[in-house]
Amino acid sequence: MTVLDAHVRSLTSDQLPAYVYDLAALRAHAATVRDVLPERVEVYYAAKANPEPEILAALGPYVDGYEVSSGGELAHVAKAVPGRPLAFGGPGKTPDEVAAALELGVERFHVESGYELRMLAESARRYAPGRRVAVLPRVNLPVPDGSLAGSSLAMGGRPTPFGMEPEQAREVAVALAEGAYPQLELRGVHAHLASGLEAAEQVRVAETVVSWATGLGVPLAEVNVGGGMTVDYADPQRRFDWAAYGEGLARLTEAHPGLTLRIEPGRALTAYCGWYATEVLDVKRSHGEEFAVVRGGTHHLRTPATKGHDQPCSVLAVESWPHPWPRPEAGGERVTLAGQLCTPKDVLARRVPAPGLRAGDRVVFSLAGAYAWNISHHDFLMHPRPGFHFLDA
Ligand SMILES: *Cc1c(COP(=O)(O)O)cnc(C)c1O
Repeated sequence: MTVLDAHVRSLTSDQLPAYVYDLAALRAHAATVRDVLPERVEVYYAAKANPEPEILAALGPYVDGYEVSSGGELAHVAKAVPGRPLAFGGPGKTPDEVAAALELGVERFHVESGYELRMLAESARRYAPGRRVAVLPRVNLPVPDGSLAGSSLAMGGRPTPFGMEPEQAREVAVALAEGAYPQLELRGVHAHLASGLEAAEQVRVAETVVSWATGLGVPLAEVNVGGGMTVDYADPQRRFDWAAYGEGLARLTEAHPGLTLRIEPGRALTAYCGWYATEVLDVKRSHGEEFAVVRGGTHHLRTPATKGHDQPCSVLAVESWPHPWPRPEAGGERVTLAGQLCTPKDVLARRVPAPGLRAGDRVVFSLAGAYAWNISHHDFLMHPRPGFHFLDA
């Protein structure tokens, strides 16, 4: 029995549902990623994927910094991993958030628009006098045809509220390089063009961004090529090919001595270290299909509802049944796992092979370490919150 299974079995019914995170597995995974990346490639963890303080701290030795995308994340991450470099990105930064970031001494700003650049310059004069603030304009760059075929969330090269069109980003970069804003220093260029990309696609994106950035003809120390490494929810054993990605990035750093590349993965770092464990409350048949209703649901684990997939899961059979009433049991081979919410959207996985699934059996959903609890609508229907457990064997 794995440590995870033993832990889930050790919980009482009223301790379920629960999020269980394996910090040792997270560290091992992050170390593998770090190992295959060449020198002059920095990793900033995109905190929005999972900002649990324990997760941020466990990643500490394997990342160069953290990417935050709001004033809330900024304050939270600065407290959870004090003293670590932060990059402040994201659209719609408010003047108050920018002031707080400047006072905290944030290392880098990813600037999303011309308005934001002027606001940042003015704020830097006020809140960081005598200091030059490092800026990376974010560019919304078209990527070569076909590169993003597999992308689930493309945001580059088409109309989006993110970043600047190439021509405007170029103007901003040139103005910064020419000293138009004495408080601000052009450190480099930032792009995050899509999510859900395989390694070969990510390499093409990185090549496109670096070639555009170095073609500007202005001095750049860094190019941030974004996150978006794929996680395969249909095949939970499969991993993004970090080694192939590392080789592609190595070719880029060799071609551009003096340039530091930065990546900012979120999902592909933390998805694998989290599980959502629960128990079956009821099993029933409805118009030819069998359903198991589990304690909790998509108000805790919204990932399958928002991405339209079946969350991978496994069943832990529980032999004991403490109640005097009969135990409901599935008659067929496949069971749809739904939660406790009064909406047909509250489905965690459809037609899962689970012959004989009974009330009281436990179900453990995997790949729940990223964009899971923190993107869910916890208060809908006012069910209790899950427990949180951090294993660290
Ligand atoms: C969300 C986001 C990331 C991380 O994306 P993943 O798909 O989780 O790797 C990185 N950079 C920016 C700017 C983002 O918005």
